[in-house]
Amino acid sequence: MNVIDTIKRPHQKYGRAWVEKTRKAVGADLMGVLAVSPQSHPDFLYGVQAFMPGAKAAIILAGEMGSETINLIKPPAKYAGKVKTGGLLSPHVVQVTAELDQSAYQLAKLLKQEGFRTLALPSRGLPFRPGQMKAALSYCHIAEAAGMGTVGTHSFLITPEFGTRVRLTCVLTEAPLPTTVRVDPVDDCTHCLDCVKICPVGAITSPGPGRRSVVDGMKCKMYRDMVDNCGLCQKVCSYSTHHSEITDGPLVAKANFPGMPAVSYDQVDQP
Ligand code: SF4
Ligand code: SF4
Repeated sequence: MNVIDTIKRPHQKYGRAWVEKTRKAVGADLMGVLAVSPQSHPDFLYGVQAFMPGAKAAIILAGEMGSETINLIKPPAKYAGKVKTGGLLSPHVVQVTAELDQSAYQLAKLLKQEGFRTLALPSRGLPFRPGQMKAALSYCHIAEAAGMGTVGTHSFLITPEFGTRVRLTCVLTEAPLPTTVRVDPVDDCTHCLDCVKICPVGAITSPGPGRRSVVDGMKCKMYRDMVDNCGLCQKVCSYSTHHSEITDGPLVAKANFPGMPAVSYDQVDQP
């Protein structure tokens, strides 16, 4: 359900209409494309080289996570009762990521049938780079560069359609797909710092003005392992960005909220 305003480019086979048609065909909730070019971010080029050196584009597919499950995320048991968050959140993540994997394989098959080498990467994430707590490719940063949303202070992607309630996966392809671009860019993070305040282990460092936050991945992982998943920063963000049905708003489409600007995308030619 991409929120899109199309500028028609009929000569472009892989333009906006193709993206929307393909997204529906593979059953993803959102889809964006980032073309590979020599000017691409070095981290992106590193990952492309690591997995498919000939790739011309990375496609991000997003699957919506149910707000019903996110709403059940609780603070640690000592504050909110005995049910562990992971009791429902972890199986839900497994379900959404399995569906995304299926969509990614379908998309890879479709592009292969058109004659392009294509690699579907796993939605559960990629191995870390040697000696670093950093994945070989960051799906959420690719999604941001493809105009699908903003990487928030908590380092999750915040989308106009579903807030942080999305899981992502990535497909690398040699098909010459152009980058999808948000024509009317909006910072989806309100910089309220609620995620920084709520993190039980202080894993999110408050960023200075104009700077990206730093998330201590090891602290976060250790805590999540201890309490069987967490998701507090995701949940509090859904309040801060009005993507929660518990607060007062509809589930989707930030553009539906009074005072929030509508979002539109266009697609541009490969740089
Ligand atoms: S909780 Fe606030 S600061 Fe944190 S990511 Fe969401 S909007 Fe940004
Ligand atoms: S998932 Fe939990 S532990 Fe990890 S950064 Fe978010 S609030 Fe902190």
